[in-house]
Amino acid sequence: LILAFGKSVTTPFPRWQIQFADQKQEFNKRPTKIGRRSLSRSISQSSTDSYSSAASYTDSSDDETSPRDKQQKNSKGSSDFCVKNIKQAEFGRREIEIAEQEMPALMALRKRAQGEKPLAGAKIVGCTHITAQTAVLMETLGALGAQCRWAACNIYSTLNEVAAALAESGFPVFAWKGESEDDFWWCIDRCVNVEGWQPNMILDDGGDLTHWIYKKYPNMFKKIKGIVEESVTGVHRLYQLSKAGKLCVPAMNVNDSVTKQKFDNLYCCRESILDGLKRTTDMMFGGKQVVVCGYGEVGKGCCAALKAMGSIVYVTEIDPICALQACMDGFRLVKLNEVIRQVDIVITCTGNKNVVTREHLDRMKNSCIVCNMGHSNTEIDVASLRTPELTWERVRSQVDHVIWPDGKRIVLLAEGRLLNLSCSTVPTFVLSITATTQALALIELYNAPEGRYKQDVYLLPKKMDEYVASLHLPTFDAHLTELTDEQAKYLGLNKNGPFKPNYYRCLAPTPPLKTGKPG
Ligand code: NAD
Repeated sequence: LILAFGKSVTTPFPRWQIQFADQKQEFNKRPTKIGRRSLSRSISQSSTDSYSSAASYTDSSDDETSPRDKQQKNSKGSSDFCVKNIKQAEFGRREIEIAEQEMPALMALRKRAQGEKPLAGAKIVGCTHITAQTAVLMETLGALGAQCRWAACNIYSTLNEVAAALAESGFPVFAWKGESEDDFWWCIDRCVNVEGWQPNMILDDGGDLTHWIYKKYPNMFKKIKGIVEESVTGVHRLYQLSKAGKLCVPAMNVNDSVTKQKFDNLYCCRESILDGLKRTTDMMFGGKQVVVCGYGEVGKGCCAALKAMGSIVYVTEIDPICALQACMDGFRLVKLNEVIRQVDIVITCTGNKNVVTREHLDRMKNSCIVCNMGHSNTEIDVASLRTPELTWERVRSQVDHVIWPDGKRIVLLAEGRLLNLSCSTVPTFVLSITATTQALALIELYNAPEGRYKQDVYLLPKKMDEYVASLHLPTFDAHLTELTDEQAKYLGLNKNGPFKPNYYRCLAPTPPLKTGKPG
């Protein structure tokens, strides 16, 4: 595979294009009519959802001054940023360097794009979690020629040192951990409301930035070429706009790309479920009885990790297909009621609501651990535990004992919010896959010729998904088999992909997902 920044004028491809060997690629010939349910992680609403990634070892809780009231300059004299403490930049740089080692595809994009800059002239305004991994993405976008201004999509998730490092290296970043709601919108506004600078691309996670521009600066959309959205919530908002005929630029739905769903949901959870449980409870897994509610991608990851540690794992499901998969993977399929009295841990990952009710909570045994890996805090009926007869005791950050009048207590983690994102870190390599998908989506939308994308929501072209995966293979010294001409003919495939149809992992046709087929 080669990454080429061609000067294609006569072809329907953008000036910048990914070429697969000698092939002039055409993305996804078949527009998919079959969508898949957009159930995926998002913690991006400006809400008070908590998310704490790597420990912030330089944070000083003594420094109560709001960053908005501080006069700070980076070493080049610029004050076009607002972070907690610019002096923490060096620590943040080290965090970024660690992340770089696990983000091979972005580093490869940087290297390959040294000659021609596919994002030259792009002015990207971003609103995502500001972590070391995001920093690697931003610096890659910079290396590809873009100018960026960035705010945080969550009031708790910013790593202050990383924000400082970005500001020090010249990125106008407006974010700190523990922003107020007012700070949150102020930071977003500082990114877009700038004299002499207007964004022409949006990278959003949760839809708040897009919403702000719609509300405050609708005229900006005249210059904006596209929106790339990462989260289920933001994608939902985009589909609503599209349905109402109010979406005024093309948007790329990264949340539903195969490379996100297949890796983020499954592998991220497989790697982080144990971490989240361990950090909060110091528990041992061997021989413990665990019930996992939902055997989708997230559930599969959780079950696999717990089984490998010697836990006895039960699964609940509503869908006979996922239920059968659970059975054939060696898990006992049960109704929650059947095991609720005996299990040591209850984990929800359905994307649904009220899966664990007060009745279940009443019947759990003493010391049962209850947590959620699904998107929102609706899966466990936590509100039902806020009654006068129950006592809440905070035992650690993100760990509550809820105590019944007879002395029985359950251990509730992260108040029913996403366990891994609230209480542990998530693997950088998985984030690398998502970040590369975002970068390619930006490149594709920015370079797409007039008419390729309409004012609608699109999935990343399948070939780009495959390209993202291929960029990560060298890490494993993996050797991909190439189809012979004869085999390609036999399977009816182009030797250079795409290798699977667009509907390959799709489940249900809601909402209809478009792919990046030349329009
Ligand atoms: P999925 O649709 O593949 O799986 C959910 C499963 O739950 C489905 O098989 C469904 O049939 C089942 N289900 C629904 N209601 C149920 C009920 N009442 N009882 C038992 N099973 C039920 O979705 P997914 O990709 O596994 O994602 C699940 C949730 O996790 C979503 O909310 C998603 O946003 C979130 N998510 C979390 C992370 C994370 O890092 N924690 C990462 C990705 C996605």
